[in-house]
Amino acid sequence: MEFSLGMPAAGEPTTDKLFDVIVIGSGPAGLTAALYAARAHLDVLVLTGSDIGGQVALTSEVENYPGFPEGVQGPELVQRMQEQAERFGARVELDTITAVDFQQHPFVLTGYNGNYLARAVIVATGASPRKLQVPGEAELTGRGVSYCATCDGWFFQDKEVVVVGGGDSAMEESLFLTKFARQVTVVHRRDQLRASKILQKRAFANPKIDFIWDTVVTEILGEEKVEAVRLKNVKTGEERVMPIDGVFIFIGHIPNTGIFQGQLEIDERGYLVVDRRMHTNVPGVFAAGEVADPIFRQVVTSAGMGAAAAMEAEKWLAEQKAEQEEREQERAVTA
Ligand code: NAP
Repeated sequence: MEFSLGMPAAGEPTTDKLFDVIVIGSGPAGLTAALYAARAHLDVLVLTGSDIGGQVALTSEVENYPGFPEGVQGPELVQRMQEQAERFGARVELDTITAVDFQQHPFVLTGYNGNYLARAVIVATGASPRKLQVPGEAELTGRGVSYCATCDGWFFQDKEVVVVGGGDSAMEESLFLTKFARQVTVVHRRDQLRASKILQKRAFANPKIDFIWDTVVTEILGEEKVEAVRLKNVKTGEERVMPIDGVFIFIGHIPNTGIFQGQLEIDERGYLVVDRRMHTNVPGVFAAGEVADPIFRQVVTSAGMGAAAAMEAEKWLAEQKAEQEEREQERAVTA
């Protein structure tokens, strides 16, 4: 692959504007990458994807992002990040990338609104909620099955809901749901939570939250809306049907790497493989945030990865430019 830093070569879609850096995704990783790239005087475009603001935009309160001792609402935090990136010249556009071509340079990204050309790309496509994959889940999504308490909690005023999962998300969202629901029952497949101690403590202390241990949901029942869940104790094998108004599922996430299959190296769990400096296996393509982070998955670590990716992209572009200028000088001398 030969890298060029001029306008697109003949045969490429010349109507499409060429950007120094295109960031795919608009969560904390993408917006921080855009901020750093824009402040390095690069021409930056952020393509938001359909989940504008990423997962944190669906979160209620963020208490562990530094600089906000009183906590901050997730949507407000990403809105501020976007404003900060735009203040330094980053352009944020609503489009979802459906295909990428990293075999040619400038790289070509295809979205619903057309093609985009980029000298460097920062992938920050994040992760999506993992599904339970039980009968009734897909059919009743939006009709009592939800993956977002902030979005849907309000519909469950004085109702009874089940939360599936034992991690930080499940605890945080259970606590949030107690603002609306009469009773929140956490169904967890083990007898110990994975969540951090502080969230465990708060959940255990909340009189509206109770726990069913060693149990999985095997089916979600209902005609027009959720009416019950079928539960199975994984130790005894005992099954029962529990009447319920809603089911909130927080059992982790799956990285959004579908469009990069065959283009970028992906590990066995589906995460993009990056080195310590956020480089993917394709020179000029970087990745940041949950799409490339199976370990930390925090707003602050995603933002940090975004900053690092942008700094590396800037360095890489400068190196490419210097090399190109050197080649041109050599050509001029030999001509
Ligand atoms: P997570 O930590 O991976 O926890 C997923 C939970 O779902 C685990 O308890 C797991 O059970 C359970 N689970 C997974 N697959 C399941 C299945 N098929 N059926 C039933 N249960 C299943 O995911 P998360 O809670 O979304 O958190 C993701 C990351 O974000 C973590 O690093 C977390 O610390 C971070 N986070 C932080 C905060 C905060 O700091 N305030 C808030 C939200 C998220 P096992 O325990 O048995 O594996």
